[in-house]
Amino acid sequence: MKAVDLIVRAPHFYTMEGKGVGYKDKVSMVIDGGKISGFITRDKEAEMYQADEMLDLTHHAIFPGFIDAHMHTGFNIMRGLAQDTKNWMMYGLQPFDNVLTRKERDAGSCAAIIEAVKSGTTTLGDFESYMDNVCRFIEKIGARGNIAQTIRAAKRRVYHPGELYDFDDEQGEMSLTENIELYNKWHNKANGRIRILFGPQGADFVGLDLLLKIRKAAKERKTKIHMHVQQGDRETYQIKKRYGERPVSWLKRIGYLDDTLIAVHLTDCTDDEAETVAKSGASMILCPGSIGIIDGIVPPSVSFQNAGGNCALGSDQAPGNNCHNIINEMKNAALFNKIKYCDPEIMPAWRALRMATIEGARAIGMEDRIGSLEAGKQADFIAIDLRSLSMQPVYTYPMRNIVPNLVYSARGYEVSHAAVDGYLILRDGKLCGIDEKEYLDALEKYPEGIGKRASEEFYRINGTNVQLMKEDML
Ligand SMILES: [Zn+2]
Repeated sequence: MKAVDLIVRAPHFYTMEGKGVGYKDKVSMVIDGGKISGFITRDKEAEMYQADEMLDLTHHAIFPGFIDAHMHTGFNIMRGLAQDTKNWMMYGLQPFDNVLTRKERDAGSCAAIIEAVKSGTTTLGDFESYMDNVCRFIEKIGARGNIAQTIRAAKRRVYHPGELYDFDDEQGEMSLTENIELYNKWHNKANGRIRILFGPQGADFVGLDLLLKIRKAAKERKTKIHMHVQQGDRETYQIKKRYGERPVSWLKRIGYLDDTLIAVHLTDCTDDEAETVAKSGASMILCPGSIGIIDGIVPPSVSFQNAGGNCALGSDQAPGNNCHNIINEMKNAALFNKIKYCDPEIMPAWRALRMATIEGARAIGMEDRIGSLEAGKQADFIAIDLRSLSMQPVYTYPMRNIVPNLVYSARGYEVSHAAVDGYLILRDGKLCGIDEKEYLDALEKYPEGIGKRASEEFYRINGTNVQLMKEDML
């Protein structure tokens, strides 16, 4: 009899192995040394293994932990402040973003990470300017982090439509240095759970020299570049004005499109441009809720995937998207594409689920470690409580309804357990590594001060949300 760390028993496993959802039943998952050893039938379990812990989940379905590949958790402190408005970044977000302190951003980050983990995300793709505390919190909560530091030369102020960004080269260089320092401090730390990527905010926010320096730094360290690409007509305008070309064709010309690049959004890309990015080996992150709310656009992820590209999902940011719940993004990805193409079959639930798991892992270059429940991979898994109202009733024959109910009906609270490297970080809906209440209490004290500091610019800009407030619509 072999001693192992953990055996997970459940009636349903969705392993995501193969081309579909990799469904298995009447088995148990064996975990040892942080990795999945394999699956065995129930009758063999007792004679073959002695487990330190037997996790007997009698009415649950087990999935790989979800991957939220693109988040700005620090923005969570501004949740709900900038949706339903045109020129989102400059008129919606900037008045508030300009006045935030680091402490306030950190408080927002902690709450966003808690929300994500509690709704099944085990790998978080966070992207912001102050990442040291984020890394520390991800380490503490026990999750996996793919962290990029924002590299930006454009001065932080409100730019009006038509205005070219004003570069501060020293600020740009300094932010690259900070990204390198973050890499030196955190890459492969927290038992290998933290990975540091390079994060130019966008090709429009840094000059050519700095962009090329970032590429060199990423390639030397064999890590990835996590960058917004053609993220709206504002970026297209900036790049065309500066270089006379659209962003994708310009990035291709300077040799930026390859498998080092994880391209976020592609909001303003044509189908042909999305295909160009896919064929280059670069991957894509689709943030359907965020781009739907802030731009009213469904990015061309289907064309990207049809051209052979790997596409992950992201929740992006809470001032516009209002949540960090990847189940919400699976539903948005499926629903928005059905509507875009007037075709209910174009983005089925299973495909959205693959984007949040195995295809997401491929997109971020981690498919050898996470994204599916297979022998040899890290034991990152979640359990969905099938007795939740949103998952009931459960059909298993002749038709199974668990995947469509997860994607179209679940809201996040159905996630009862989550584990990373075989360690439970969420058990019976409660986080194991932290006291959640402490972080929620800390959050409450900030809105009043942020509101006061932002009010002058908020009213001066006189954007859509000012009008909505005046007209009693908010
Ligand atoms: Zn973003």
